[in-house]
Amino acid sequence: MEYPKVKRNVLLNPGPATTTDTVKYAQVVPDICPREKEFGDIMKKMGEDLVKIVHGDLNKYTAVLFTGSGTINIDACVNSLVPEGKKILVLNNGAYSGRAAEVAEYYHMDHVNLKLPITEPIDVDKAEEAIKADPDIAVVYCCHHETGTGILNPIREIGAVAHKYGKVMVVDTTSTYAMIPIDMDKDNLDFIMASAQKGLMSMTGLSYVIGNTEMIEASKDYPTRSYYTNLFMQYDFIKNKGEMHFTPPVQTIYATRQAIKEYWEEGEEGKWARHQSVWEALYKGLDKLGFKTIIPREFQSKLVISVLYPNDPNWDFTRVHDYLYERGFTIYPGKVSDLPTFRLCALGIIVPKDIEDFFECLETGLNEMNIKVQY
Ligand SMILES: *Cc1c(COP(=O)(O)O)cnc(C)c1O
Repeated sequence: MEYPKVKRNVLLNPGPATTTDTVKYAQVVPDICPREKEFGDIMKKMGEDLVKIVHGDLNKYTAVLFTGSGTINIDACVNSLVPEGKKILVLNNGAYSGRAAEVAEYYHMDHVNLKLPITEPIDVDKAEEAIKADPDIAVVYCCHHETGTGILNPIREIGAVAHKYGKVMVVDTTSTYAMIPIDMDKDNLDFIMASAQKGLMSMTGLSYVIGNTEMIEASKDYPTRSYYTNLFMQYDFIKNKGEMHFTPPVQTIYATRQAIKEYWEEGEEGKWARHQSVWEALYKGLDKLGFKTIIPREFQSKLVISVLYPNDPNWDFTRVHDYLYERGFTIYPGKVSDLPTFRLCALGIIVPKDIEDFFECLETGLNEMNIKVQY
């Protein structure tokens, strides 16, 4: 069936990302009750694909699906994976890892919130010191890519240290999954998480934790701190009944099925190469206009760039944003402490040509608004 083209917006915000029309239209399906076997089969296949994307052995890892935004995964992992009397160590170098510490606080859980500098990757030695310092730590938690700053953390090395001391390694991979290649075993990971609307370039409302099945089974006996977001309860229901415990995001599941098909077509390497080429095009444009960025390039994920506001009284982020927005480009406020920054991201189905068009539009706008890029 032929559908009309949908107006294409180039989203340079850190997700939800620009999607294909085929993914958008995959949501248009005959009404179905998600308790039907037909729908359960789609979910089962999807769970397996989600594990395969991170090269996980299906005999060792399981995907646990939730209805919700990505934060539901952080909530579920933090509240479900810490045994009685034990602690979670949060390696906190940004807003997203900080969120895990906040979850632990909300559940009144004993935890260690190790605050590290937010403008550099986690120092693995500091992580090891913290693990050694407290024998009650059972779980080590960090964020792969701090989406607020664009910092990429050395998860493989941190995972190796966590495993050396027999700890469970949990990583928030929401803003790298299906973009930067991840391998559960090689990267020393026990639990990771993501959301359909980021790397997979699908719709919002579906999030998932991919974890070591034995460890999920073991968590059956851990204290239950939440009803709606208990990892074992959700896992057990999906395993035994073949469906999610509560209503799944039906349309998003259909969109995600199509997005996964397109993911396999583009391929892990090809997709990551494309995202990097978009990042390079972003830098090329920024350099040409004279913009300064905050985080050293070698620390970056190559998915998010934090750009410093130019030092010109005519600069007004909202005005620039609105000018671009009316022309189909979305830029996003920054999150590097209180520094005046905005973000440009390389998520979504965008290519370097989109970025060239974006900078042409930005340059015209800056001229019209009489803004000079100077510092
Ligand atoms: C987007 C994101 C999340 C989830 O945020 P929501 O607003 O709940 O979707 C979690 N972690 C990281 C690193 C993210 O980029």
